[in-house]
Amino acid sequence: LVSGESDNDYEEKAQDRALRPQTFDDFVGQAPLKANLKVFVDAAAQRREALDHVLFYGPPGLGKTTLAQIVARELGVGFRATSGPVLAKAGDLAAILSNLEPNDVLFIDEIHRLSPAVEEILYPAMEDYVLDLIIGDGPAARTVRIDLAPFTLVGATTRAGLLSTPLRDRFGIPLRLEFYTPEELVRVVMGTGRKMGAPLSEDGALEIASRSRGTPRVAGRLLRRVRDFATSDGVALIDKKAASKALARLEVDPVGLDHSDRRYLKALIENYGGGPVGLETLSAAIAEARDAVEDMIEPYLLQQGFIQRTQRGRMACARAYLHLGLTPPAAPTG
Ligand code: ADP
Repeated sequence: LVSGESDNDYEEKAQDRALRPQTFDDFVGQAPLKANLKVFVDAAAQRREALDHVLFYGPPGLGKTTLAQIVARELGVGFRATSGPVLAKAGDLAAILSNLEPNDVLFIDEIHRLSPAVEEILYPAMEDYVLDLIIGDGPAARTVRIDLAPFTLVGATTRAGLLSTPLRDRFGIPLRLEFYTPEELVRVVMGTGRKMGAPLSEDGALEIASRSRGTPRVAGRLLRRVRDFATSDGVALIDKKAASKALARLEVDPVGLDHSDRRYLKALIENYGGGPVGLETLSAAIAEARDAVEDMIEPYLLQQGFIQRTQRGRMACARAYLHLGLTPPAAPTG
């Protein structure tokens, strides 16, 4: 994936620490979510209690991890981070839980990928701040109950639908993140540019923002690449023209679709007559992992009305045909 999660991860992580917004005021966008979350955080802080458990869900790169860190910082408590696939055994989670300080935030990314055994440990921990450990096995096995410090679990997932119902029900504060508007992303790009010391004009920022698929992570990545082109070409100011030239070289088109997005739409239209076609088949056709397609490619195409998800599979909308310079099929009559 050109603008996917895995490429440049190392570079991104190193720069990220310095660039991530640190407070609610720093954090652009997601206004309704932020307003509510602030109330709950302030109330918990005033009462010196652990905040109720929070679930952030929505497409990757919209700020779930960032918000989790902000919550901990605004509560004035410690922050521990792990992820579903990393927690292989129940004991891994038990060790982390029993080392938390009162009211700490424990962040679990990709929480839909927890194993059932680890989830079992989590239920009583979330509900009553206790660990039920099984010592020994066979007929001699017994359960030992250990008290934990009160804590806040902040879970993040790209697919709330994959969470088991008992787990989902234990989050008192479920919050959905939305794609950002171009105006919001301009603020993100200007802010990041300032912190990086990139010479960026407002219309240059808008050019990057409007091609970032509503996603701050993509905006940050495109900004870094555009800046590389500017450095290499000896461009003093990244304005609309410089940004647009660099983005064309990155194969990011005017509406922000990249090579993978276009390949997806092309396969859907050219190989499967515009659908309906199953996700599995379509992913195989473009040689991408099914999860990556569902997480990284489809949400924005759906939101922008390029594709539609139906009972029988994915279908291309007229906008997809027009975007590829093709004629959409006539709308069925009657
Ligand atoms: P997620 O956990 O949802 O995948 P992250 O929190 O890791 O997303 O954010 C991805 C990148 O985008 C990070 O570099 C982060 O600093 C940046 N970012 C996310 N949301 C915002 C925002 N509202 N304002 C500024 N930068 C943001």
